[in-house]
Amino acid sequence: MSISETVLSQYELVVGLEVHVQLSSQSKIFAADANRFGDAPNTNVSVITLGHPGTLPMLNAAVVEMAIKMGLACHCDISRYNIFDRKNYFYPDLPKGFQITQEKTPICKGGYLDIRVRKGNSKNYWIKRIRLNRIHLEEDAGKSVHPPDADYTQIDLNRAGAPLIEMVTEPDIRQPEEAAAYLATIRRLVRYLGICDGNMEEGSMRCDANVSVRKKGNIRLGQKVEIKNMNSMRNVQRAIEYEFVRQVTLLEQGESIQAETRLFDVASGRTFAMRTKETLNDYRYFPEPDLAPFVVTDADLARIQAAMPQLPEALMERFQQQYQLPEYDAAVLTEERETALFFEQVCQLTKHYKAVSNWLMGPIKSYLNENGKTADAMPLTPSQLAEVVALTESGAISFSVAAKELLAALAYCPEAQVKEVARNLNLIQESNTDVLLPLIEGIVAKFPQEAAAYKKGKKKLIGMFMGEVMKAAPVKIDPKKADELLRQVLES
Ligand code: ADP
Ligand code: MG
Repeated sequence: MSISETVLSQYELVVGLEVHVQLSSQSKIFAADANRFGDAPNTNVSVITLGHPGTLPMLNAAVVEMAIKMGLACHCDISRYNIFDRKNYFYPDLPKGFQITQEKTPICKGGYLDIRVRKGNSKNYWIKRIRLNRIHLEEDAGKSVHPPDADYTQIDLNRAGAPLIEMVTEPDIRQPEEAAAYLATIRRLVRYLGICDGNMEEGSMRCDANVSVRKKGNIRLGQKVEIKNMNSMRNVQRAIEYEFVRQVTLLEQGESIQAETRLFDVASGRTFAMRTKETLNDYRYFPEPDLAPFVVTDADLARIQAAMPQLPEALMERFQQQYQLPEYDAAVLTEERETALFFEQVCQLTKHYKAVSNWLMGPIKSYLNENGKTADAMPLTPSQLAEVVALTESGAISFSVAAKELLAALAYCPEAQVKEVARNLNLIQESNTDVLLPLIEGIVAKFPQEAAAYKKGKKKLIGMFMGEVMKAAPVKIDPKKADELLRQVLES
């Protein structure tokens, strides 16, 4: 059954997201093993990680601090008295037979994130507040590796005991685009805070989506389904789009929604049932007896608060105020912390703020994209960019020439003097009135008839005059400036 837009529009989508963020601490959450990926399998595995009898977990203070930072950035209440639970289950990648988690007593409670949502490529957006239920700390499990064509599974425990925060939203999301925007907001935030690289493709940020539908106007929530296995923001959006239509179709056929876990298949864009959800809680939660409760003091909170960096939303506000940037520019420049910092460094050296913004959003961004680089690998230094902007703003070099040739040259010579490079490449153009004016007056004097015709209204002759000026000029000249002066001379 294919379902019409009219029927779909009678239903409302309801989504709550559970996001796991892998914290980038040096060591694991309860052991001194390196918290590092890409090492040979099973090399970062101490007896604590392996759950050997008689070993005791020790809480990593850096991890707690990272969770609190995220909680403060999300306007959460920070719990002062904290414990961990054991969540018991058996799986080969879980050597202890239980996961240490805070599911029932999260370190951060409540809170919210305001997100900017766009439809497609539209520049228009709306702001939506997504309430958080909680952020809690827990340890990751190891990884099961399934070699292709093999009839066995390999276990790599390097990830076992890696620190995670899990962020759980209230069911506030109403559009697939809002889910993607929420994830983008978290990615930006964790990168600003320096607690995770936010890379979903590599698994440092993972998302499960709880999806239900209900007839518009209904207050009661519909039966939810949990979708796993989406490794990009785009795929989270696709999975939710698919699931909305699937659930509405079932309801329209008079069927009910099964409580189940479903997997997203990237190739087909569909979701598939993986397992029905156990309604009974069989994890036998109980407080972890090997960890003493930990207390967050006023002094801890004050210290962490004082060390918080400026967050993207505040920075975006300030960029509009302090540098008179359009909102769009401020949003693009604060997307990555490195870009925002770089922008401010350049703005210490020049007053052409909008020009600096244009450079960063245009040629520099393209250069980084084309070369597979990120904002921490800028092709030029702040002072070089300030000089480049000075040259283009004065008309000594045209923007397009500078964007193409000068930028490429500077990317290869990070130490170079901008003016010297520009001169060597013969990019400098004359824009000085004192030099250009006599030249232009000379040309106009050479063609008195044409000058008279121009004055009478044959304005097209400007092209001919311009051509003659260019031909006569001994150096490159600034066409904008020349055009302006030529018109002045001809009109006078
Ligand atoms: P469970 O007990 O199944 O784990 P929770 O109440 O803990 O469910 O919620 C888990 C996530 O599912 C939260 O993000 C929550 O917002 C979301 N959620 C709960 N009920 C619904 C629903 N009916 N539709 C969509 N999302 C929901
Ligand atoms: Mg739950």
